Amino acid sequence: MDTGFIGIGNMGKHMAGHILNAGYKLTIHDLSKEAAAPLLGKGAKWGDTPGQVAAASQVVFTSLPTPASVEEVVYGENGLRTGWKEGDIYVDMSTNSPSLIRKIAEDAAAMGVAVLDAPVSGGTKGAEAGTLAIMVGGDPDSLKKVQDVLETMGQKIFPVGDVGCGNIAKLVNNMISLACNSISAEGFALGVKAGINPQVLWDIITVSTGNNWCLQQYPNTTFKGNFKPGFRVDLAYKDIGLALDLGKEYGVPLPVGVTVQKDLQNTMMAGFPDKGVDAVILPLEKLTGVAVRVPD
Ligand code: NAD
Repeated sequence: MDTGFIGIGNMGKHMAGHILNAGYKLTIHDLSKEAAAPLLGKGAKWGDTPGQVAAASQVVFTSLPTPASVEEVVYGENGLRTGWKEGDIYVDMSTNSPSLIRKIAEDAAAMGVAVLDAPVSGGTKGAEAGTLAIMVGGDPDSLKKVQDVLETMGQKIFPVGDVGCGNIAKLVNNMISLACNSISAEGFALGVKAGINPQVLWDIITVSTGNNWCLQQYPNTTFKGNFKPGFRVDLAYKDIGLALDLGKEYGVPLPVGVTVQKDLQNTMMAGFPDKGVDAVILPLEKLTGVAVRVPD
């Protein structure tokens, strides 16, 4: 199977790397050719446009930052649509809007192209290790055809339902995870300001009912003052916005989600859109004069 990958960013560079390492022929594209250079050095081919990538591939994967970028890659002047052939499969692994991927699937079906949405969880570490959880929406026969390629990126592959359902699962996961991220930052700022050693607090909470995945990251991030992404604040803000849109579409009130969105917005306005999501603690640290750090 000839494969293509568009979006060679923090996630995509690892995911595309696994496809290449598994021996698949791979054509790649990104806005920045520089980002693609390491994979080109390992034998990937370059496509000048998404359309060229589609023309050279039977299955194209994308890992793009926003719904607008997915829309551009599919429908743009030299978009995927200009290179699709009947029988091709398009797998969007971005965290994307369920309604957009459903529209793309409808338009692609008219050209004989199958679409799967397959967003991932596990962060850049999971992408690098090839251990991502992959949530797949779309037709099971198409999933079967790309299963082996997906397994190069992660073995926990969950068929979720129709196209769009992969992103619904992903947005629900991220809304829960980002709420834990915000409340963990608040809890640690409070505990440390009120006089508790952050390591002692962490030792207690990670074996108590407040334990959560975000807190597990603290020894490598917040405690070290390391806010390098990982998962950027601006992408998290996009995801919570998409979750809130879904809430509006289905009439489900999400008051905690709204608060999380405000927290991420404040973090961006404080000048940290490019930091990792643990950076939601930085405006609080500035305000309270505490630094939640643990010396080596
Ligand atoms: P990123 O910004 O690091 O990478 C995106 C890449 O897409 C960049 O290299 C950019 O140049 C490229 N790009 C943007 N617009 C393009 C266009 N029109 N044509 C071609 N290339 C284009 O983002 P990332 O962290 O790799 O995330 C990618 C997706 O995965 C996002 O949807 C994100 O929400 C999701 N995600 C990220 C993480 C994480 O921890 N970073 C975890 C799970 C899911």
